[in-house]
Amino acid sequence: EAAVEATAVTATELATQATGPGPDRPGSDRPGTAGALIRMFGDALAVEDIYSERGSVLYDLLGGEDQHEISELLSALGGTRRSVLELAAGSGRLTLPMLRHGHDVVALEKSPMMLRLLGAKAAAAGHGDGPLTLVEGDMSRFDLGRRFDAVVLGATSVSLLDAAGRAAMFGAVRRHLAPTGMFLFSTLQMRRGPMLAQPVRENTHVLTVPAAGGPGGPGGSMVVLVEWIDGPGQQRLISAFRSEVDPAGTVDHRLFTSEVRLLDVADLERELAAAGLTVVGREQIAGGREPDRSTLLLRCVPSPDPDPDG
Ligand code: SAM
Repeated sequence: EAAVEATAVTATELATQATGPGPDRPGSDRPGTAGALIRMFGDALAVEDIYSERGSVLYDLLGGEDQHEISELLSALGGTRRSVLELAAGSGRLTLPMLRHGHDVVALEKSPMMLRLLGAKAAAAGHGDGPLTLVEGDMSRFDLGRRFDAVVLGATSVSLLDAAGRAAMFGAVRRHLAPTGMFLFSTLQMRRGPMLAQPVRENTHVLTVPAAGGPGGPGGSMVVLVEWIDGPGQQRLISAFRSEVDPAGTVDHRLFTSEVRLLDVADLERELAAAGLTVVGREQIAGGREPDRSTLLLRCVPSPDPDPDG
């Protein structure tokens, strides 16, 4: 069981525990708990992306039970067997349900460890060579030389790319869509409430996961915090921290981080239009574990070619 308990803790409380000045190391000015931990532990803290080799194992452990957006995605794909290109497929949280529903999936993903986890799960579920193809690649630079009935990008991962990356990704998606194809992707929304009128961190909670089988090996637990940074550059920060002591007494302090930026939907629609994609559907999906989060699933189709006579 990944997520055991959620307890309200403010990031300020954690930051005040960061007593010593700590070595002036890169990242010490990061917002939220990540910055506080870097200042507290200095060079003794190893910091990695949550999609690194070790982080991928952690991501898989944490997200394994997350059903968010799966049913909406499957119904948008409909009952007909489709060829699907899934971008940033991760360890298969969305891929496996699509395979179970009979779709053929090409899963493109940057992290080799994620692809290994996905391949192992698909093999264990009996989805052999036919319906699943794994591709190690970058979603903002790919050319697979074929077209698909659908391109899918879930888990609000569009926010992992900056504006130039999104423009390149949308262009590549357009080139890989069949004329009747659809592009389905989700983007983070935050509910506007009095809480978010605060200028700094909100929505901090702690999830404790048993470490066994996780990136740190046996023993201990891992604290995972999700924080909301308000104001300009709004983003959701995910920080997962653990300290591990090996049998020789060596301590390993490790922090895995990820950021989900809040993107303006009107901006996204303009970027899509510039790439030749038109939004034809918007579905609001309720927010999983975080009560103030929701997701918007956008459905896009190739824009009609401009009138050649016009
Ligand atoms: N789709 C999976 C899910 O729903 O659980 C994984 C989503 S996870 C939030 C984001 C994934 O994007 C990670 O597996 C990460 O390795 C991958 N990723 C990040 N940047 C990428 C890029 N430029 N191209 C392809 N994959 C990328």
